[in-house]
Amino acid sequence: MRSAERLHEIRQNIKKWQDKSPLAAKEITLVAVSKTHPVEAIIALIEVGQKVFGENQVQEAAAKWPAIRKLYPDVELHLIGSLQTNKVREALALFDVIHTVDRESLADAIIKKNKTSGVRCKRFLVQVNTGEEPQKGGVMPRNFPSLLEYVRHHGFPVEGLMCVPPADALPAPHFALLRTMAEGAKTPYLSMGMSNDYETAIRFGATHIRIGTALFGERKV
Ligand SMILES: *Cc1c(COP(=O)(O)O)cnc(C)c1O
Repeated sequence: MRSAERLHEIRQNIKKWQDKSPLAAKEITLVAVSKTHPVEAIIALIEVGQKVFGENQVQEAAAKWPAIRKLYPDVELHLIGSLQTNKVREALALFDVIHTVDRESLADAIIKKNKTSGVRCKRFLVQVNTGEEPQKGGVMPRNFPSLLEYVRHHGFPVEGLMCVPPADALPAPHFALLRTMAEGAKTPYLSMGMSNDYETAIRFGATHIRIGTALFGERKV
C-alpha cells in the first residue's frame, strides 16, 4: 500500500474513533513521524495534503528539513525525541513544537535561547515518564508538579503533556494518567498514541497522535 492510501485510512480511523468516544478531542493533529525516512517519502505525503511531521533527532531534522521547508513553507515540524541542552539553539530554529521538555536545565536553556534571533519554535510540551523507566526521557510523575511550577514561575509556556508508554505495557492506564495530569495542570494538549495504540489514545482524549510505521511502513534502520 502506498503512503497516500495509508494516510487516508488513518484519517478515516481517527474520525471513526473520534465519533465513537465521549472523551475524544474535537481536533486531533496527526503528526507524521518521518524519522529515518528520506525526503522523497516526506514530499510524497506533503503532496497529498499532510502538513505536520515529527522527527526525533535534531541532527537528522537539520539534514532533511531546510530543503523541504524551502519548497513547502507552511509545513509544521515537531521534535518528539529527547533534546540535549547543547542542541537547543538549533532545535528552536528548526522545530515549531517541542514535545520533550523534561527537566529544569533544559527549560533554562530554552528560556535563554528563546530570546535570541532565528527562533521559530512557539509551543512546548512536557514529556512525562509515566512508566518510570530509567532509560527513557520524561519527568517522573512525582517530579512533574515541581517542574511545572518552575517553568511557569519563569514565564515558560507549557501547553501540553506527552508520553510514550512502556513497550510491554497496556497503554490505557498511561494515557489515563497523562490525561489526569494535564487536567490538573490545565494544559490543553495531550500528545499520546503511536501506530499500535493511537485508537486507544484517541479514546482517552489525545490531541496529537504520532504515527510513523503505520504511515511510512517499517523503518529499515
Ligand atoms: C518513533 C516514534 C513514534 C512513532 O512510532 P511508530 O510506532 O512508528 O508509529 C512516536 N513517538 C515517538 C516519541 C517516537 O520516537
